[in-house]
Amino acid sequence: MLAENLQQVEENIQRACDRAGRKKENVTLIAVSKTKPASMLSEIYQCGVRDFGENKVQELCEKKEQLPKDIRWHMIGHLQRNKVKYIIRDTELIHSVDTYRLAEEINIQAKKIKRIVPVLIEINIAGETSKFGILPEEALLFIEEAAKLDSIRIQGLMTVAPYTKQPEENRPYFRQIKKLSVDIAKEKIDNVSMDILSMGMTGDYVTAIEEGSTIVRVGTGIFGARNYT
Ligand SMILES: *Cc1c(COP(=O)(O)O)cnc(C)c1O
Repeated sequence: MLAENLQQVEENIQRACDRAGRKKENVTLIAVSKTKPASMLSEIYQCGVRDFGENKVQELCEKKEQLPKDIRWHMIGHLQRNKVKYIIRDTELIHSVDTYRLAEEINIQAKKIKRIVPVLIEINIAGETSKFGILPEEALLFIEEAAKLDSIRIQGLMTVAPYTKQPEENRPYFRQIKKLSVDIAKEKIDNVSMDILSMGMTGDYVTAIEEGSTIVRVGTGIFGARNYT
């Protein structure tokens, strides 16, 4: 069943790319596996998926132990500073840099292991008080400051758009964040690229791809609904 879900998602991605005149290889699908057992990740791994997203440090570390070494782990959730050290070696990309102090801590830990760690800056595109992230109007200044931290490499922006059953409602937000990334790229800030746009989840990834997303993060659409009880 998971294989069928995945195939459906892949087809939707392909069609969105066709409509937008984009190449599918320029859109990475991250299977968001939070709350799901390693056996389910393994099933999706067998289908060829190598990018997995988790939002909790402990869960990411536990699953990493149990699953093949060639998986690329993405930290997509709010990250507490005291936990950075546990994932600094193990993540392909930290999507959720949402404060300067977090960027500083990642920089310190990256320096300790003598690596340059790639990160995205999370943008609170709709200014929702319930969400983490930098406000769009503060993004440029934030990135100019964070770019001075020499053991992190800012590679783009990430956003979690408002929850909606109507993906069209999020199109203006996706468009706005794409424009923001183009504007920031034009500033040619040292140490900063705007190659990655991590946006689009189960409810709205098709729309996000049409508006320029390069990474979609799909959980429910692959693994089914999450049970938090
Ligand atoms: C849970 C989560 C997702 C996936 O959500 P679905 O609606 O299940 O696809 C994507 N991004 C982030 C940051 C998440 O926390």
